Amino acid sequence: MHIYISVDLEGTNGVLHSSQTQPGESQYERALKLMHAEVNAVIEGALQGGATSFVINDSHFDMRNLRIEDLHPSARLISGWQKPFSMVSGAQQGFSDKPFDCAFFIGYHSRAGSACGVLSHTYRSQIFFDVKLNGHSVGETGLNAALLATFNVPVALVSGDDVYCQQAHEELGKVTAVQVKRAISRYSAEQPSFAGTLNLLKQGAEKSLGDKKSWSLKKPASPSTMEITMFDPAMADAAELMPGITRLDGRRISFEHEDYSVLFKMMLGVGVLGASRKDPYF
Ligand SMILES: [Zn+2]
Repeated sequence: MHIYISVDLEGTNGVLHSSQTQPGESQYERALKLMHAEVNAVIEGALQGGATSFVINDSHFDMRNLRIEDLHPSARLISGWQKPFSMVSGAQQGFSDKPFDCAFFIGYHSRAGSACGVLSHTYRSQIFFDVKLNGHSVGETGLNAALLATFNVPVALVSGDDVYCQQAHEELGKVTAVQVKRAISRYSAEQPSFAGTLNLLKQGAEKSLGDKKSWSLKKPASPSTMEITMFDPAMADAAELMPGITRLDGRRISFEHEDYSVLFKMMLGVGVLGASRKDPYF
């Protein structure tokens, strides 16, 4: 079995603050150790469950966090930004041109605006206030899983805090979800034993591969509509310059396409345009 693994950082046990998520910040190196340990635990469990190969896509921030020398030897690593499908780039290519059997989302976090999810955001914190797909607010999980579904890659396993796991069930159905910490607020969490978390991830990965009925493959409607509420109107001013984008009001824009992969890329483009209007003072 060939497994695709998209790895984010905010949903790792031990991580709860931006001083841990940005390269150069004081707690970043510590967070990286935890991130590698969680990915390697998942790989070990999946190997016991019958997996044979892994492609890992670094999906956090500038996507240059994971180090190949610190990953399980059976893994290949996709690093760096910009990538055409961002957090799910490479999934469409398969492993040595053989399609992936399923995907894992590890270290994921709750969507923008969640009441108490640790480090909640959707793709672009401080730029995307809310992202709706076909009328429903979705997080990175829903957005990424919809694209994977168009590549015929189901999601078999997700991990993050309790708020994230609940949202993953809302967005994907009854996929195997490993809770690694309990959110108290956006910047605080109750953290169980890290050794215990690694065990849970290992067991979850092994179990998920034997439970194909719980794999989630939900193809988005064609056409699909995306509606994004930007953080401020200047960001919506920039976004509406793109053809096909409708300005709904001060902050909200929407766009529609029959090919979800185009819609997904438009969402990434709107993020880049929005970032260009970010004002550090105002
Ligand atoms: Zn993220």
